[in-house]
Amino acid sequence: MFDSKIYYFDNNATTQIAPEVAEAINSVSGEWGNPSSAYGIGRRAAGLIKEAREKVAGLINAKPQEIIFTSCGTESINSAIHSAITVHPNKRHIVTTSVEHYATLNYCKFLERSGYSVTYLPVDQKGRLNLKQLEDAICEDTAIVSVMLANNETGVLFPIEEISAICRSRGVLIHTDAVQAIGKIPVDVRKLNVDLLSISAHKLHAPKGVGALYIRSGVKYAPYIIGGHQEGGRRAGTENTAFIVGFGKAAELAAEHLDVEQTLVKRLRDKLENEILSTISGTHLNGDVEMRLPNTSNISFDRVDAEALLIELDRVGVCASSASACTTGSIEPSHVLMAMRLGAERARRSIRFSLSRYNTEEEVDYLLKVLPGIVNRLRQASPQDIH
Ligand code: PLP
Repeated sequence: MFDSKIYYFDNNATTQIAPEVAEAINSVSGEWGNPSSAYGIGRRAAGLIKEAREKVAGLINAKPQEIIFTSCGTESINSAIHSAITVHPNKRHIVTTSVEHYATLNYCKFLERSGYSVTYLPVDQKGRLNLKQLEDAICEDTAIVSVMLANNETGVLFPIEEISAICRSRGVLIHTDAVQAIGKIPVDVRKLNVDLLSISAHKLHAPKGVGALYIRSGVKYAPYIIGGHQEGGRRAGTENTAFIVGFGKAAELAAEHLDVEQTLVKRLRDKLENEILSTISGTHLNGDVEMRLPNTSNISFDRVDAEALLIELDRVGVCASSASACTTGSIEPSHVLMAMRLGAERARRSIRFSLSRYNTEEEVDYLLKVLPGIVNRLRQASPQDIH
């Protein structure tokens, strides 16, 4: 049955590089000039970065000067929080959620060890925040509120516009980790009204190792990486011209394909999800059904260990995930599903399927064909587990 084709349903972990992006990168591979150099080859590299910046800014309705390039989403998130506490040295409190990516959570944990206090807001069983709790958590000492736009494990969307309004009224900076949302849903920084927003290129069909941070005009910013004067003095280090060009191309393509996410990708996700939930007994959807990314489905399978299921799926060429990519292989149940109070057992039985515009109907049909048999076999193999 397994024909060595890969059936990739793990696009929240990373995405394949779009052919147009690879072509754009190859076309500038000879541009080795330092973008900070004043002579011709340097100016050419700087020109390429300028164009890419315009494209990335365009995708989120920002001004090009509001975008700095970073090495990844993690760096962007760390930088945003670091800046807030550096420009407000007297404020030593951060508000975030218990379901953020580790890029936020572990940076906050690090800050706690340095004497900062952090409020990790709870979520309900569908993964939603209570905005009254968020508002109540903000105090005189709060330097920044950092809430993700879309959760990487469940796809659940947070109401950032409303959260920004609360932060504005309280005079507190707002950062959103938009790593999973960019390219999947329309993101407009003016509408969201955020001060800082993080992006990662490898989630939108560009290479790993490049990201961006949006810094709203007028927001005071303290750099995280200190050295030269690159990125307008806001992020030191010689820019990765070729990958930034690829990122620009990916942003352009993402803008062109946004409607495909809402149509083709959502239709395939819904088909996959509905078929699993209706034909395989003992399956449950995790997270809010409506307020969700169009590509993500997190499903728990009663009496099936998620890690065993992933191994069996891998054997037949299917890539999926049991939690965020960064925690795969760890024995800890997903912190997101635990925060949703689904319990450790259900968390350990949950799989995330995440699609992209490169998935096809045939791939979904293949997964739907192989999955019931695997689930059955695993359930039969552990009958003592039945209750
Ligand atoms: N934030 C979210 C929501 C993510 O899903 C990820 C990656 O999985 C990150 C941040 C980190 O991005 P990067 O891998 O570019 O560091």
